[in-house]
Amino acid sequence: MALAVTSSTSIAFSSSNSRTEQGDSSSFQPSDRSFPSSAALNLSRKRSPAVKALNAEPKRNDSIVPAAATVFAPDVVEKAAEVEDIEKLAQDLEKASPLEIMDKALEKYGNDIAIAFSGAEDVALIEYAHLTGRPYRVFSLDTGRLNPETYKFFDTVEKHYGIRIEYMFPDAVEVQALVRTKGLFSFYEDGHQECCRVRKVRPLSRALKGLRAWITGQRKDQSPGTRSEVPVVQVDPAFEGMDGGSGSLVKWNPVANVAGNDIWNFLRTMEVPVNPLHAQGYISIGCEPCTRSVLPGQHEREGRWWWEDAKAKECGLHKGNLKEENGNGSVDGNGSSAASDIFESQNIVNLSRPGIENLLKMEARQDGWMVVLYAPWCKFCQAMEASYIELADKLAGSGVKVGKFRADGDQKAFAQQELQLGTFPTILFFPKHSSRPIKYPSEKRDVDSLMAFINALR
Ligand code: SF4
Repeated sequence: MALAVTSSTSIAFSSSNSRTEQGDSSSFQPSDRSFPSSAALNLSRKRSPAVKALNAEPKRNDSIVPAAATVFAPDVVEKAAEVEDIEKLAQDLEKASPLEIMDKALEKYGNDIAIAFSGAEDVALIEYAHLTGRPYRVFSLDTGRLNPETYKFFDTVEKHYGIRIEYMFPDAVEVQALVRTKGLFSFYEDGHQECCRVRKVRPLSRALKGLRAWITGQRKDQSPGTRSEVPVVQVDPAFEGMDGGSGSLVKWNPVANVAGNDIWNFLRTMEVPVNPLHAQGYISIGCEPCTRSVLPGQHEREGRWWWEDAKAKECGLHKGNLKEENGNGSVDGNGSSAASDIFESQNIVNLSRPGIENLLKMEARQDGWMVVLYAPWCKFCQAMEASYIELADKLAGSGVKVGKFRADGDQKAFAQQELQLGTFPTILFFPKHSSRPIKYPSEKRDVDSLMAFINALR
């Protein structure tokens, strides 16, 4: 099938354009569905489907079709929106393989679904889509700050699968305003949210408004804090689809239950090209200034926004994973500041405000102190409760005392100013001979990790 790109095609395909700092808001369409149906690509398909589509429908075109991102799916999709119970679907598919889940997603949504590709090991999603034999679309957010290796990898993937990735660019005026006001690296000073909002979240939001569903590479094991409950399919909790309004977009996470190692085994077995940054120690890959390689044993999310606290390590693309705190320290949804207390143990000292102020004042103490700044409604605090109690039991009589200080509500401003509170939980160690507490820097809150920290400082 020989096709030609029409001059009216307005999505920018060139990776060289994509590296401009300001982006080009005229170079993409908010919804790629506005492509003329005759728009086509003169692409040779390098690989033919190795596996027949699951649940293949009679209407499906089983011949070799360009699996190009911009090619419309055949008319197998019912345009009338099906009302269905997504939670039930998630339960039904909980034990399904990623290939089955992908096939179901593509079958149901046809041209109204697209894979979000970040340029990392989520290339597995493209391989799964390819294996279904169905047409599929792929989009990617070109923030203008990606590594050169990632841009080259995009090109490799396009050639390998014979597709065009539908790049989404940030709004040039918004990027310009941010950079002219705050400089190129403001995220190191005041957090990554603002830059991510301009360069990622808003372009994503525009892309999703042209879809009914999207496919992500989220896995439960990627972030113990924020992704541990990711279902294989869900009503998107944060973004809207083409019909508008809450509930108008469905999010598919075909590899939610797959371990990182298994993804890599799959990529190797299928000889899928991978981003060369992985060979340099990168696991999670994002923008160049905000991603770094990790050491063996470090969690992959420790390579992202490493100067910030663990809880904030979502760029906004999956912000439904986070529970927002309000200014009073209560939490929307599942918790409230009236929640019953946690870390209840005879070996954990409940510090009052004067108690922790005393600890701060002392130049020399008889014992070192480990103290968690917590809020009982915080699910991350709740998640570490068992290990913290075990730690306190282990340290009883050892010369290190274990305490807790409830730092939400009225105490929050004090804790932020005096105790380095960023997000809950914040863990501090007060060494014997220093008044200055040292903040525990890791997301790992198991007993062994906490003990290693104490043993290094006691
Ligand atoms: Fe900006 Fe960093 Fe977010 Fe990229 S990851 S959009 S550079 S803050």
